[in-house]
Amino acid sequence: MYGLSEADLDIQDRARTFADELIPFEITAEMNGGELPKDVTAGHAARARELGLAATNMPKELGGGGCTSLQQVLVHEQVGRVTNALAWSATTPPSWFAPVATPFQLERFVRPAIRGEREECYAITEEGAGSDLAAIEATARRDGDGYLLNGEKWHVTSYNTADFAFFEAKLDGGDHDGEHAMFLVDLPSPGVRVVRTPAYSHTFSIHHPIVAFSNVWVPATYLVGAEGDGMTFAYEWFRFERLMVAARCLGAADRLTTEITAFAIQRRVGGRPISELGQIQAMLADCLTELFAARSLTYETARGIDAGIDVKVQHAQCSMAKLFASEMAGRVADRAVQVFGGRGYMRENVAERFSREVRVERIWEGTSQIQRAIIADQMVKRTPGALA
Ligand SMILES: Cc1cc2nc3c(=O)[nH]c(=O)nc-3n(C[C@H](O)[C@H](O)[C@H](O)COP(=O)(O)OP(=O)(O)OC[C@H]3O[C@@H](n4cnc5c(N)ncnc54)[C@H](O)[C@@H]3O)c2cc1C
Repeated sequence: MYGLSEADLDIQDRARTFADELIPFEITAEMNGGELPKDVTAGHAARARELGLAATNMPKELGGGGCTSLQQVLVHEQVGRVTNALAWSATTPPSWFAPVATPFQLERFVRPAIRGEREECYAITEEGAGSDLAAIEATARRDGDGYLLNGEKWHVTSYNTADFAFFEAKLDGGDHDGEHAMFLVDLPSPGVRVVRTPAYSHTFSIHHPIVAFSNVWVPATYLVGAEGDGMTFAYEWFRFERLMVAARCLGAADRLTTEITAFAIQRRVGGRPISELGQIQAMLADCLTELFAARSLTYETARGIDAGIDVKVQHAQCSMAKLFASEMAGRVADRAVQVFGGRGYMRENVAERFSREVRVERIWEGTSQIQRAIIADQMVKRTPGALA
């Protein structure tokens, strides 16, 4: 099915093996604030590496997997079957960064991230700037051989495990006054502190704190690209992340559809399996039909990227894949809770966990509303026929 090559099937199989090995740890993680013993977590990261599932998005010449977009989708789909972010141990370092990194930055940040020795986080969103990143208030001002950074960032995912951050700011003074720039910040650094760590709906060991940067000095070699470049690099990352969100949503929906089908066959009411009840059948059928549609869309989008289609078309298609797959996963998770009945409301049940976890897929990396705006904008500029 889906016309996958031998190499595609091989990496999909390795990712499935990895996911199946992680699933037994989910309930322990859920009941312990997302945490597993440190040696277990380290073992999972080592296993991901052993199976060739770490840094699949990074070029081979830098030590990464050099996988095609479709292969990356296949990996993320499988790891998306696991709750509690346990599969994030299959790392995806910032692929957008490698082509623009200086030789110094390659050695200090990119190569170590590929080897699993360093980990990044993104300090971009602010209290008053999420969908509208142009509204950020964080600043960067030239200071001797470097820059002074100031600002407060929200939802800094992985801050508690990362050892460097990408920090987005507006330049204060100089030739590019008011334009955006992106900086690297080593963690910890003087002047960087956690304001607070809010609790979120999901139960992850990875936190999303609010982080203050107060007069943080970084050398000029920590500027990413040039002054004024700012978010231009992030567009490539958004495409990658949106496609991978779609892929993980396929995995979540696949796991749930499989589990509710098995449950519906086994659970008997009035002497009959509930799989014979028309209203349950309708929910099962809708789950698989929507999963098939989302998977076909996501795979086709990945194939287009691998074929090198127009980058604006890629951008719109990644938005379509993220929009449709994340909304689909939300509907599947909701139905799955319903099919499981009371069990589906217990935290030890996969549908309960996914019903909370997939909710954010409609919010981060651009909300569903933002994806629709991107798609409609391209439809007007290029005609619908050019996009799909
Ligand atoms: C768990 C989690 C982890 C995150 N991790 C990170 C991270 O690591 N680094 C980081 O920088 N950020 C991170 N984010 C931030 C995330 O990217 C933003 O939350 C997201 O982009 C939405 O921005 P916002 O929260 O400010 O919502 P807002 O922009 O305030 O949106 C509020 C509502 O208005 C709608 N809206 C806004 N603009 C438009 C428009 N033009 N048209 C139509 N509707 C619109 C939105 O769709 C939404 O419904 C994370 C968020 C969460 C929840």
